[in-house]
Amino acid sequence: ALAYRTKGLTKVYGEGRSAVHALRGVDLDIPQGEIVVLLGPSGSGKSTLLNIIGGLDRGSAGEVVFQDQNLAEMSDRQLTLYRRNHVGFVFQFYNLMPSLTARENVELVTEIARDPMEPDAALALVGLRERVDHFPAQLSGGEQQRVAIARAVAKRPTVLFCDEPTGALDSKTGRAVLNVLKDVNEKLGATVLIVTHAASQAAMADRVIHFADGAIREVVVNTSKLTPEE
Ligand code: ADP
Ligand code: ADP
Repeated sequence: ALAYRTKGLTKVYGEGRSAVHALRGVDLDIPQGEIVVLLGPSGSGKSTLLNIIGGLDRGSAGEVVFQDQNLAEMSDRQLTLYRRNHVGFVFQFYNLMPSLTARENVELVTEIARDPMEPDAALALVGLRERVDHFPAQLSGGEQQRVAIARAVAKRPTVLFCDEPTGALDSKTGRAVLNVLKDVNEKLGATVLIVTHAASQAAMADRVIHFADGAIREVVVNTSKLTPEE
């Protein structure tokens, strides 16, 4: 089954002579349950694509089909419900609330989700059982990103979108975070879409989408998926 199918997805920022063509007709299939890595240089349109299929932004033209519904035809309200019920986001800089503990950061999501996990169970899943009462400033970068992952998965999302999730981490810590994402994929069955400019992250993917200048250049199905080395 497919998690997503995009058809002719286009995004233009601005207009006239200053228009930026960020997506130039993207046709993409993302199978349910896979780890998909979207790989391409900075400015190639990766975040734009992720934000549109994640329901944070809208395309200028084309379709994004999720479970037989075209996101392009949804009202703002429907799009909000789609995000709330189906989508988790992980960003490069964690976006944690500094005044809240790890558990309280996760509770921001579990208090409004339909069928949430226990906050402590989500934190245990990412290896932070012993850190639930810590504040972000008391945690390392890798631990902060794990809290962000716990917050994103606590609603049991259908899809987890990760935009440069290891971009602020050293390579060893980054690999550990990628292993957490692999666990989330295996244990919760969530489809995971990772946006990155780092080719090293392709090894853990089921499918690598090579992206450049607003378009797909190549799709590589990975038949020998590797675990990121610790
Ligand atoms: P990537 O994630 O691959 O770095 P982006 O999707 O962020 O690429 O950007 C693609 C192009 O769209 C770039 O030229 C960028 O400058 C432009 N862009 C992104 N967001 C906006 C915006 N909100 N307004 C105008 N231009 C934007
Ligand atoms: P609500 O009406 O419940 O506040 P939102 O649309 O603000 O709904 O958020 C729904 C989900 O999408 C939340 O789980 C939130 O984590 C995520 N989300 C929405 N927008 C952003 C954003 N700009 N940055 C990070 N996460 C976002």
